[in-house]
Order: sequence, then structure tokens, then C-alpha cells
Amino acid sequence: MNITDTAMGTPELSVVVPVFNEAGNIEALLARLTPVLERVVASHEIIFVDDGSSDDTMATLRKVHAQDRRRRAVSFSRNFGKEIAIAAGLDYARGRAVVIIDADLQHPPELIEQFVARWREGYKNVYGSRVDRSGDSALRRMLTRRFYSIFEQFGETGLPDGAGDFRLLDRQAVEALKNMGERARFSKGLYAWIGFKSIGVPFDVAERHAGTSKYSYRKLTRFALDGLMSFSTLPLKVWTYVGVFVSAFSLLAAVYYIVQTLTHGVDVPGYASLIVSIMFFAGVQLLTLGIMGEYIGRIFAEVKRRPLYLVAERLEDDAAITPLDPTRPTHHARA
Ligand code: UDP
Ligand code: MG
Repeated sequence: MNITDTAMGTPELSVVVPVFNEAGNIEALLARLTPVLERVVASHEIIFVDDGSSDDTMATLRKVHAQDRRRRAVSFSRNFGKEIAIAAGLDYARGRAVVIIDADLQHPPELIEQFVARWREGYKNVYGSRVDRSGDSALRRMLTRRFYSIFEQFGETGLPDGAGDFRLLDRQAVEALKNMGERARFSKGLYAWIGFKSIGVPFDVAERHAGTSKYSYRKLTRFALDGLMSFSTLPLKVWTYVGVFVSAFSLLAAVYYIVQTLTHGVDVPGYASLIVSIMFFAGVQLLTLGIMGEYIGRIFAEVKRRPLYLVAERLEDDAAITPLDPTRPTHHARA
């Protein structure tokens, strides 16, 4: 394979790998990924997006880049999160199709052969569909299921079962995603939202090769909220119905008390129920304000129009020729 060819032109396939403290996995991943790519496509490039790692990830990336120029890297100025790392990978990918894969070997690289086969049949959005999630803890699996069923009911797009970030996207789908200017990125929703001819390829999630999951429950909760709130306005609207119901109920209560006062005279006790209902409605109001706050916070994040990410360093041959403005980065320059 002629390496300079692919470094200059358009590779057939780009592979995007978000990495956050994955020094122990990169070489193991490449050892499995490279042979697959060489067998399956005419030319390829692998783009690592270093999401502000604090371990030897960058040193490892420099080493593998020196070994093979088809391995490129972009390094963020800090941790921006996997969703944004993927967005950056899509920005930098030049291939006619792009595969997104985790660095920890939980996504079997061998599956790319089937992805490419489907792509050649004309599918533009080929996703790996997790058959079982035994790699995750029981609690996480339970919460994940709950999240999917809630999203299924209230979200504006369906989420194909078990579909995650491990997928192949045709150039057309990649361009569509690059045009989505959202800051609160919930890629799983975006992948479904863009549509295109899609198909799932089942696979079993393996155990993590080295290191531990970078997602704490706190991070996952944030992520789930982002997902729900960017694809559903139900949490906002539901309060209208709750409000109507509560007012109707209090009207009934008022009628009841008037009738009672007329028939039985003034009833002094009732202090306890008063306090209870005041607390109840104060709670409902605070909750409603909280929900508003969640949306307003997201609106604020969107209107600030900050760049999605900042690049600190790039590893590629043409980086010296076209120095990158560190503040460039977002794809979506809208007027
Ligand atoms: N990752 C990232 N930024 C983060 C968290 C994770 O780029 O803030 C990368 C990580 O290096 C890995 C992939 O996203 O390649 C999946 O992360 P992880 O395996 O920790 O998630 P899980 O498999 O538990 O969902
Ligand atoms: Mg993982």
C-alpha cells in the first residue's frame, strides 16, 4: 500500500477513535484494527481524538503516528467529552465513509468488514447493535433500559435497539451530522434523526481491554438528561397538564369547603392540611422551575456560540503547512 497516496488524497475509509486516558489500549487496538482495514478497504486513515488525556496517550499517539502516517491525531486542550470528540473526528475525517469505534476494544474491529459490506450494498448508516451488555454492571444495564424506554415514548426520534456509537457513516451522513450545530450533543439521537438508509449489524460487547470505564453514574445521568432534553419538550409541556389538574382539583376543594362552612359553620382546625398542601405546591413549583432551568441552561449554552472544542495539537503531515487556528473548530459557522 502506498502510504503517501492516502496521506494526500481521499482515503476510502476513515476510522475515528475518541481516546481519553487510553495509553494502555491504543497499540492493542491498532494491532487488531490495521489488518482488518488493510484487508477490507483500498485505503484508510485512523484519526485519534485525544480528549484531554492526562496519561501517556499523546506520547503513544506520537509513536504510532511516526510508525505509520495514516494514523493521525487531534488533541483537545482539555476534556470535552466523548460526544464532542466524535464530532471533531468527523470534522477531520476525509474518507468516503467513516467508522467510529471505542479505543478499549469493547467494539470488535473485525465487525468493520461487515459494516463495509453493508455500505457497499448502499446503506449509509450502518450501526453495530449490541446483543448483550454483560460488560456493564447490572445497575447500569437496568438504568440504560429505563432510559431507552423513556426516550422511546417521549423522544422525537426512535432509537434503534442497542445502537451506539460503533458504526459506519457514509460521507453524506457525515456531512449531515457536521451541519448540526448543537452543543449538547446526544449523538445516538442525532444518528437516528438524520435518517438515511440504515441497518444494524449485531455484535457482542467485549470486556474492556485495559483501564476502567470513563463514565461515572454522574456523567451518565448528565448524558441521559442531555439526550432527553434535546430530543423532547415533554418535560416542559407536562407541567401545563399538571397545572390544569391541580387547579381543577383546588377548585373542587374550594367548593367543598364553601359548602361545608355553610352547612357546619367555621371549622378552625385544618392547620396541618394547610401546611401540607403549601409544601406540596411549593415543591411542584420548584420542580417546574428546575425543569425550566434545565432548558434555559441549554438554550444559554447554544446562544453563547462557543466553539465546540479547542485543539491544542495535531499530528499529521500537513499540519505544518496549514497551521490551524486554535479557535477554528467548529464546523458550523452560521451567520
Ligand atoms: N472517551 C472520551 N472522552 C471521555 C470519556 C470517554 O473520549 O470523556 C472515550 C474513551 O477513551 C473510549 C470511549 O470514549 O474510547 C468509550 O469510553 P468508555 O469505554 O469509558 O465508556 P463505556 O464503554 O463504559 O461506555
Ligand atoms: Mg468502554
